[in-house]
This record gives sequence, structure tokens and C-alpha cells, in this order.
Amino acid sequence: MAKTGMDRLNELKKEIFKCIHCKACRFAYSGEPSRKGIGEFKGKQGTVLYEGMVDSCPAGIEYGWEAFWNAGKIWIARSILSGDLEFTEEVRDVILPCITCGQCSAQCENKIPTVDIIESLRAACVESGVPLIDKHALVDGLVKERNNPYGGAADERFKWAKDAGLDKFVNNKDAKIAYYVGCTASYRQIEVAIATAKLFEQLGMNFTLIEDEVCCGSPFFRIGEVNTAQTLMKKNLEAFKNVKKVYFSCAGCYRTFTIDYPKWMAEGEKLPFKTQHAFELVAKLIQDKKIKFKPNAELKGKVVTYHDPCHTGRHFAIDMEQEMIKESKNLMFDSRKIKQKIDEWFEIPRIILKKLEEDVGIVFKEMYRIKLNSMCCGAGGGVRAGYPDFSLRTASLRCDEANAVGADILTTECPFCWRNLSDSNELYEHDLMVLGILQMITEYELLDILQKPTEADLLGK
Ligand code: SF4
Ligand code: SF4
Repeated sequence: MAKTGMDRLNELKKEIFKCIHCKACRFAYSGEPSRKGIGEFKGKQGTVLYEGMVDSCPAGIEYGWEAFWNAGKIWIARSILSGDLEFTEEVRDVILPCITCGQCSAQCENKIPTVDIIESLRAACVESGVPLIDKHALVDGLVKERNNPYGGAADERFKWAKDAGLDKFVNNKDAKIAYYVGCTASYRQIEVAIATAKLFEQLGMNFTLIEDEVCCGSPFFRIGEVNTAQTLMKKNLEAFKNVKKVYFSCAGCYRTFTIDYPKWMAEGEKLPFKTQHAFELVAKLIQDKKIKFKPNAELKGKVVTYHDPCHTGRHFAIDMEQEMIKESKNLMFDSRKIKQKIDEWFEIPRIILKKLEEDVGIVFKEMYRIKLNSMCCGAGGGVRAGYPDFSLRTASLRCDEANAVGADILTTECPFCWRNLSDSNELYEHDLMVLGILQMITEYELLDILQKPTEADLLGK
């Protein structure tokens, strides 16, 4: 039987009652002690960025009231569980404008899985009969009818591949490896899909694009419409059941397959394939000295910064931390191992950027809030669809941080972050170029293959 939001909320009861309402989750450190501070930098919306502990919850920054910060939402979850509060449209309107970015979870010393709690709370709210907001109901209707939230036709999902001469990979029956493209890269940011597929082709990978692919369900897990999400999950599990490994170019789809699916699958069920983001493969091939990059006069000297997508960065880090805490017999002793594992995780995209600096001549410069403390792009959690102004204002705060370090190019590794940062860049005139890392590699023809990856390289992890 499918799990309900209320089941998940009850599973998380112990965590919810661990919250001491200290509100430390409202702040994050804007820099690192060993680095020069940001000084005072006035952003495009008049916000002054500075170093030190700063407000870091986009929902709290936007709405201000107690209930909108994370601590307020955890209190709502507690009141629902103890029967002191019932779900209403007012409660929905407080728990929905949150990007589920996980900044609060990263800051909490009690290690409370806040995103899991907020998503379960939303799912329980929907189950209680409170309707979705109109904008979410619209995308829910589209995905039920067309298997994607953009309303694109099913037979146009891989039109980009056919137009780019990559059609031999569509339903390539011999392949053990699949590339799950996702809806945003299939119907909107086709540059990301083309760049990733071309990179795989250059590497000599035998991969398949599976035409029965449907939306991963991420927006619906996030907004609490878990029935829709689980229906999509089942369709994808069926479509991808014959491959050994699935690669992703979207942070949200990768997180959904890897972290959400196992949580919502029946007890004892496991993913039938391995999952990995394409940037992990590229970083590994750099470390194994199988690829390098060609110099490029156009990119030489350009200041490039990197935005950690919440879904690949913080969400994976928090999930790893939660798993290690569960297994730990001595947390004091193991906390160093946890920190090391998280540091290694955040280093992966930076391996590529540092190699681009060495070989291509870009100047890689970090923003002041990075890794676990990274500020969200504003797109996730159903916020871009449901609360577009809030979403774009949050993206603008992130673009301010790129401006503050003098970046010419803002890179990321998620088509959804790319879209929001790009739209905000235009709207608020941040004067940045927004690019995916893999997109930069493919579009500027930077890849220099020293040795083709082996089957073990491609199927490992
Ligand atoms: S979630 Fe953690 S940091 Fe936030 S108020 Fe609760 S205990 Fe404090
Ligand atoms: S997930 Fe992000 S937006 Fe939501 S409460 Fe936590 S810090 Fe705020």
C-alpha cells in the first residue's frame, strides 16, 4: 500500500519533537574565517550583503513573520501531530511559500531533517482535503494529462535529440546506461540536454534516451501531491527497469530518483539501477587523468563562479549525514568522518572548475555563501510555479552574490536553477552570463579526451 504524508509525518515524530525552537536555523555564515570578507556590497534590490551571520531562509526573508521561518513550520508540524491544530487554507498558505532549500536543516545543531518534515506536512495537508493553490492545481492537471508539467506533447520530449542529430540514442535497446533528461531540459533548457548528450557521445558512451520517460515527480513530492508523484515514480521505475545505471543533468531529478524514490517505495523495495549526475563522471575522469580541457581565448581571464544547486549539494549532504548518524555508535567520534564525506561531496563540481581554471584560463572565484551555507536560487519547492515574484527575488539575491565577487559567468549544474537565475539576471539586470558547467564544456568545445572511459568507469559507484 502506498505511503501517506501522515505516515511520513508520524515516522518523523521523534525528529519533530527534538526541535527546541532556538531559531538558529534562521541564520547562516556568509563566509569562512580564513577568507577575506565581502565588505559592504549593495545588491540590485537595495539589500546590503555583508560578512558574518546573516538571515538565510528565503521564506523568512520574504515574509518576515515567525510562522514562515523554519522554526515556525516545525511548530506547526508539532501542533498537527498533537491535535492542537487542523489543516486549513491558512495553514497551507504558510507552509507552501518555502523553497525546501534545506538551509535550515544544514544550520540545525539538532540535525533535524526539516525538508522531510515540511514536505510530509504538505502531503498530509493535501490528504486532509485542503485544495492545492490554483497555480499548483494547474501543473498537477498538466502532468496527469501529459506526463510533464509544461504541457509538452509526449512525442516532442526528445525532439531536441532528433534535431541535434542524436536520434540514434533514442530507445537504444543495447545500452545498459540511460540518460534521464527530465522535463525542464526536454521542453525548456534544451541546451543542457544537448550539451550532456553530446558530451556522452564524445566520451564514446553507449547510452539510451527512453521515450517512456515521464516527469520525475519532484514538483509533486515538494508540494505534497504525493499521489501524483508516486504514479510518476512507478512509470519511471517501469520504463528504466532494464538499465544498470541512470545518469542525470538535472539536480532535482537526480535527488528525486536517488533520495525520494527509495523513501516512497514499498518497504524492502530497492532502486533497480545505480544513479549518478553527469558532473560526477566528468570529475572522476579528470581525477583519473582520462580527460583534460583545451585552452580557449574567449574564456581566458573570465571570472567564473559556481552556484551549488540545493538538490545536488545540501540535500545529498544532509541525506548522507542522516544515514551516517543512524549507523553511528559514537557520534562524537564519527562527526569528523561525516564532515569529511560532506566536504568531499561538495568538492566534486569544484574539481571540474579548478581544472577549467588550470587548462582553459578562467578565473574561478567562489561566492561568499557556498556549499552547506549556499543561498538557494529560489526555484524549488513549487515556489517558481506558485510564487514567481518571491522566486525571482530570491534568485536576484543569489545573483547579487555573484556580482559581489565580480563574476562574469555564473555556472550551475541544474536546468531549473539555470532558468530561474537566468530570468532573474535579465529582470534585475545583473549583467551575468548564466551557464551550465557541462554546457560550457560542450559549447566552447573544451573537451580533450586522453583515454576513453571504460565500462567500469561508466557503470561504477
Ligand atoms: S529546527 Fe533546529 S535550529 Fe531550528 S529552531 Fe528547531 S532546533 Fe533550533
Ligand atoms: S527549507 Fe529553505 S525556505 Fe524553507 S524554511 Fe528552510 S531555509 Fe526557509
